Amino acid sequence: MLFRMISKPSYLDQPCERCGNKKTIIKVRKGRTQTLSGSAAIEYSQIVCTNNECQKQFEMKLEERIQKEELVRLKREENKQQGKQKVNP
Ligand SMILES: [Zn+2]
Repeated sequence: MLFRMISKPSYLDQPCERCGNKKTIIKVRKGRTQTLSGSAAIEYSQIVCTNNECQKQFEMKLEERIQKEELVRLKREENKQQGKQKVNP
């Protein structure tokens, strides 16, 4: 019987930059998408920390960042709209 090293992606070998714990890959399912042959589940892999507390904090910060970016985007849209109104009274 042959034993082979299963090659892992190198980023998995690096410990968590926040707490030093091991990282792991999880599959996240994100709704369904329409395809030509019907619908398919959208699934993607995410690298997470095996330390639950660390991962929770990371997700909270990520959420915050996404919300902030969304706010900035909305502000920009607003400015654009106002700019248009100035050009076309
Ligand atoms: Zn961590």
